[in-house]
Amino acid sequence: MGLNKKSVDDINVNGKKVLVRCDFNVPLKEGKITDENRLVAALPTIKKLVADGGKIILCSHLGKPKGEPKPELSLAPVAVRLSELLGQEVKFVPSPVVVDDSVKAAVDAMKDGEIILLENTRYRAEETKNGEAFSKDLASLADVFVNDAFGTAHRAHCSNVGVTQFIDTCAVGYLMQKEIDFLGNAVETPVRPFVAILGGAKVADKLNVISNLLEKCDTLIIGGGMAYTFQKAKGLEVGTSLVDDTKIDYCKEMMEKAEKLGKKLLLPIDTTIAKEFPTPIDAEIEVSSVDADAIPADMMGLDIGPKTAEMYADAVKSAKTVVWNGPMGVFENPILAKGTIAVAKALADTDATTIIGGGDSAAAVNQLGFGDKMSHISTGGGASLEFLEGKELPGVAAANDK
Ligand code: AMP
Repeated sequence: MGLNKKSVDDINVNGKKVLVRCDFNVPLKEGKITDENRLVAALPTIKKLVADGGKIILCSHLGKPKGEPKPELSLAPVAVRLSELLGQEVKFVPSPVVVDDSVKAAVDAMKDGEIILLENTRYRAEETKNGEAFSKDLASLADVFVNDAFGTAHRAHCSNVGVTQFIDTCAVGYLMQKEIDFLGNAVETPVRPFVAILGGAKVADKLNVISNLLEKCDTLIIGGGMAYTFQKAKGLEVGTSLVDDTKIDYCKEMMEKAEKLGKKLLLPIDTTIAKEFPTPIDAEIEVSSVDADAIPADMMGLDIGPKTAEMYADAVKSAKTVVWNGPMGVFENPILAKGTIAVAKALADTDATTIIGGGDSAAAVNQLGFGDKMSHISTGGGASLEFLEGKELPGVAAANDK
């Protein structure tokens, strides 16, 4: 598909006020940012706009304040850390309504190359409803709009979609461009063989992804909790493993579709089982591995088994493009992380283009220390999934075409 949208390279922001929608939705613990990947990912666009002489007005949501000020979800810590990362002051201009006269005054006083950060856009109830008043408030601050928030691109909110109705020049930033290029190229024009790996808890969450990827990829690998619904659809005993009985027919359909299209659909040949789900999730538990057709009725599958891990790693070896979304087991528990680690390692070792589709898989890859070995780790969980489903993202569609 590629991206046919105006980017920050196609606009002139010298002397202009530029509203930049970033994704600063970072995890916080007692006011401290515990993972700053999203801040780091936002830097190239901000630096470019500063270098071009714009007056940079940054905005983002953080968590779910549900339309009112919540001090613990203030973007204040982000302004501090961003200033350090950029080596330049990012002036925080907080307002309980995000945009008011004092914020407007601060913007009017800006010099070229200066940066300010607005308060959490979700302090305003209209934000998630794409209400006009807040879209207009935001638009009143700027001459140009740049959207670099891939993580919310699958939502039509004021700060990424509504605002574009009231500003003429609307472009996407480098992060957005990179996300769309990687995900878009992988799905639309992949270098083959193209292997897609899906895991995670529920089949239902990824119905459209499975169907769409089957059409695009050469091999589809299924692991994690969702594998057991497929196993059951094949008539196998799955014990007390996670199963969505309403999706058995769907799984059968997908297996038929794979066969008809001549695509390889790989399912676990063995599985790591335990008596019950670990509580707490990282509790030490006793596990064993059995063949996929030998799960006892009172046992639960919690990870792919060692033979499957080897088979999946092998399937990845000859790939030229790999897209991965969803862990192979309950990776939060070290005893049940082996399958996920094996797949992460296989991806790290291949010279294929490797793309991790956000959310839990991104967390798993980073947590396991393979982050810098991947070609691209998406900053958007839901957004990357909707992209892999083949949906158009409203946050991308709203930018001007080239
Ligand atoms: P998702 O949000 O769909 O990507 O699912 C991620 C979650 O799936 C993780 O929290 C895993 O612990 C969980 N998960 C993976 N494999 C299994 C399994 N076999 N049984 C239950 N949960 C699983």
